[in-house]
Amino acid sequence: MDAARLVRTLNNLNRFGYADAGMTRLAYSPVERQAVAYFSGLCEREGMTVRYDPCGNLIARREGRHPELPVVAMGSHLDTVVRGGRYDGALGVAAALEVVRSLNDRRLTTDHPVEIIVFACEESSRFGVSTIGSKAMAGLLDKSSLAVLKDRAGLTLAEAFSQCGLDFDGIGRCARGKEEIKAFFELHIEQGPILENEGKPIGIVTGIAAPTRYEVTVWGRASHSGTTPMNGRRDAFLGAAEISLGLEAAAKTDVAYGTVATVGACEVKPGAMNVIPDTAELKLEIRGTSVESKSRVSERLFEVIRKIEKTRGLAITVKELSDELPTTLDGETTESLCRLCEREGVSYLRMTSGAGHDAMNMARLCPTGLVFVPSHAGISHCRDEYTSAEQIVSGASLLELAVRKWACSS
Ligand SMILES: [Zn+2]
Repeated sequence: MDAARLVRTLNNLNRFGYADAGMTRLAYSPVERQAVAYFSGLCEREGMTVRYDPCGNLIARREGRHPELPVVAMGSHLDTVVRGGRYDGALGVAAALEVVRSLNDRRLTTDHPVEIIVFACEESSRFGVSTIGSKAMAGLLDKSSLAVLKDRAGLTLAEAFSQCGLDFDGIGRCARGKEEIKAFFELHIEQGPILENEGKPIGIVTGIAAPTRYEVTVWGRASHSGTTPMNGRRDAFLGAAEISLGLEAAAKTDVAYGTVATVGACEVKPGAMNVIPDTAELKLEIRGTSVESKSRVSERLFEVIRKIEKTRGLAITVKELSDELPTTLDGETTESLCRLCEREGVSYLRMTSGAGHDAMNMARLCPTGLVFVPSHAGISHCRDEYTSAEQIVSGASLLELAVRKWACSS
């Protein structure tokens, strides 16, 4: 593997959407599509055949000795958040190309065909839904729910598709069969501080957390803030505050399972300084890789809510907004990544991912491995995102070993 060439590829990809404040390549924007098209050209130069599926996933194929065998695929995404970093997504794409170039340098023909996939719309920044491309490929997309999506400018997803020359009505045709793909590998930055804190260059991901989200509405009684004595109040906000602290305690009790919980939004009404709030609406999520642990935290939250209803004289309703299943990554792919690290004397950590990735959808389709490299200070989704060249190369080298191992044995 040519480390300098890999870094150069990454730098060249990051010329698209570069600004001092960070990288901006929003999904289905002209600059993101230009970056994907540029990458497609690089793949063609390596002798790969390239195609786009109807939702804009780029699929580049390097033929194997047995074209009829299922492919061994690798990839990530090139779209970013607004003012994002240089490594989130782009690293996995650049590394996949370096793996192919390295195979070409060695004139190595694999038994299985090898694919690079650049997934469309991984980030939710533009349309509020994440990993659209990999969901479509895994057959997990509900087209009717996509039809209502709009970006901030009011443009629908279908309109964005047609601006890019893509086929919104054809989204169902993105789905691939389980028999088509033998395994999928993604290299990604950790976007958290664990690897750096543990001094490990590689993380092998065993599971990807999923959120369960609730909207909790607390009803109290509005009244004059000056004339209502402290002990005669039914303050909706104080109930919401106690629920929030109760949620924190509920999650901390399960800290050993890595479950986390967050109240991310709170709206207080009527929202005047001289009126005791009569309504408080919380939006919260419980996230983790253990279904049992998540439901224990939920149960503790519900207990707190029932208690607060009584002690504060409030009415509280809970509405479940979503309940997603965590992803357990395939034992065989994960174990083979671990064995490769051991063989090469590379220190690694088995870990879970708190953030979603394309790999979680691909895991529903085929055996999937997800490799993390450290993010300096755990910073991501901003321009200060940083992973050293040495760390990048150690991740890309593991990706190459995995692809060679899986693509060379039938
Ligand atoms: Zn990403």
